[in-house]
Amino acid sequence: MREVVNMYLTRRYLIALGFIAFLSCSAFIVTRNLISIQETNAAVINISGRQRMLSQKAVLLSCELVHSTNTASQQETQVQLLETANLIEKSHDSLINGNTAMNLPGSTSPEIRSIYFSEPYLLDQRVKNFTKALRALAKVHPSPGSEQHLQYILNEGKTNLLTAFDTAVSQYQKESEEEIAELKKVETAIVVLTLMVLVIEGLFVFRPMVKRIWSDRQELSDANERLLRISSLDGLTGIPNRRSFDEFFQREWHRALRSNKPLSVIMADIDFFKAYNDTYGHQQGDGCLKQIAAVLNECANRPGDLVARYGGEEFVAVLGDTDINGAVKVAERMRSEVELLKIIHQGSKISGFVTISLGVGVITPTKDLLPEALISMADQALYQAKNEGRNRVKSIKTDNKEEEF
Ligand code: GH3
Ligand code: MG
Ligand code: MG
Repeated sequence: MREVVNMYLTRRYLIALGFIAFLSCSAFIVTRNLISIQETNAAVINISGRQRMLSQKAVLLSCELVHSTNTASQQETQVQLLETANLIEKSHDSLINGNTAMNLPGSTSPEIRSIYFSEPYLLDQRVKNFTKALRALAKVHPSPGSEQHLQYILNEGKTNLLTAFDTAVSQYQKESEEEIAELKKVETAIVVLTLMVLVIEGLFVFRPMVKRIWSDRQELSDANERLLRISSLDGLTGIPNRRSFDEFFQREWHRALRSNKPLSVIMADIDFFKAYNDTYGHQQGDGCLKQIAAVLNECANRPGDLVARYGGEEFVAVLGDTDINGAVKVAERMRSEVELLKIIHQGSKISGFVTISLGVGVITPTKDLLPEALISMADQALYQAKNEGRNRVKSIKTDNKEEEF
């Protein structure tokens, strides 16, 4: 189930990413187009504007040529006039057919084409006639026919041709603005779409993903906690294990050292437990261990107390801030509670029921003492209890004096 959800989320995530990638590429292409259109349109408007300016220059040069009396300047004007005519013609051709060097596309709209080739403007024809007249004037002057050419040039240059050029420039400008406005709309749509995809992604991909991550995290930490609990508990009896005892004991030792308070340890061992196993079997032996563990655990449950399985049929209790009297009382309670369980034990040489022997050690820790000293004191006291007949509590104080209760 989890895998299916993950796969589902991943697929959604990939689709959303694909959308964003597609939209980003589109935005890139639109921006590139915008730039290139701006460049092309700028060139077209510039050249068509220059045509208008050149036509006016040609009118001026024509007047100058006809009215000048100086032969040298007439020759120079003639050259200039021919150059201007050539430039007008070349630019005209480039505007219609395109010219990569001048960054002119050559593709024209129906509106532009109608300015060039249809009534009333007939710009193409007018430009051809106009440049033809410019060349003719430059060639024939001075001669009687030059006045006629000049008249035509003046007429065209100041009225029809000028109007046609103006109309072409305005149309080029209008189309460029329209084209840019169109692309800006596409760009805005792409931005809006991208934002929408991001919102949808946030709602349907990231939100469930974050939720999933949080729940996984929670599960993981729960599992960790469970693992920690399991690893700190004894598998058979369910009470803390030896590892927990070691940690707890070290902590309590240092706490007692800092607070200068007594620390007690009780070691408990089931009497004749081998015989119990031999008589009733290992499985029943385990059951007995569980019962005793539960009872011992009940006997010491203050905040500074811990009862653990020390190993085999031995148990240990740590009692923080507890002096010898308190510890012995707890140990005695443990002993009697086990006895009160009345678990039949025919193999016992001292009772008809299961009993335990306990050793109590008490130390107020000092820096020159090792924590192990306290364990060994409790162990020694337990040894004494066993030696002296079992089913009893023996204790050893710091001064190593044995006591029986
Ligand atoms: P004592 O009175 O001197 O303590 O005699 P004892 O028989 O109890 O001591 P001994 O050390 O000779 O035997 C301990 C027995 O505890 C050996 C083993 O069969 C039993 N034992 C240890 N761990 C377990 C356990 O997990 N389950 C069971 N059923 N028995 C265990
Ligand atoms: Mg033992
Ligand atoms: Mg024993």
